[in-house]
Amino acid sequence: MDYENSMRLEIPSKSENEAFARAVVGAFASQLDPTVEEISDVRTAVSEAVTNSIIHGYENTHGMILIEASIKNNLLKVEVTDKGKGIEDITAARQPLFTTKPELERSGMGFTVMETLMDSVDVFSEPGKGTRVVMTKKFNSIA
Ligand code: ATP
Ligand code: MG
Repeated sequence: MDYENSMRLEIPSKSENEAFARAVVGAFASQLDPTVEEISDVRTAVSEAVTNSIIHGYENTHGMILIEASIKNNLLKVEVTDKGKGIEDITAARQPLFTTKPELERSGMGFTVMETLMDSVDVFSEPGKGTRVVMTKKFNSIA
């Protein structure tokens, strides 16, 4: 039998909501009976993606961020979508140390962190339209 579950959360792009989104997805993923490290990885990856939507996507103006997560058997998928300014060059943006906001002391490591902690990271973006980050992670705990 396949096990499936899903969730959707839509939040304004306020910095306070970053911790909220991270906690919600962490709680959702806890049904996979994860290790402390696995849950921490998911929380950190979500935090990086949501922070990017707030800081880069909406550049600290008001906008909505959609967070969707689904579980199919032992696979977790998390999607973070904004309708912000989008990314000109996705390949460049994903490079370690690449940042368009060095003045804000961003280190350009967000995508690299997501790639390290999750099994897959896909980025879809169009300038002027927005960005969607799709991440997956496989959990070993349940069959
Ligand atoms: P850090 O995450 O280390 O604080 P950073 O956010 O600049 O720094 P990344 O998270 O790797 O680094 O993102 C790289 C670049 O990709 C950003 O500087 C920004 O130009 C672009 N970017 C990432 N996410 C978005 C987004 N949601 N909307 C628009 N641009 C984005
Ligand atoms: Mg970042």
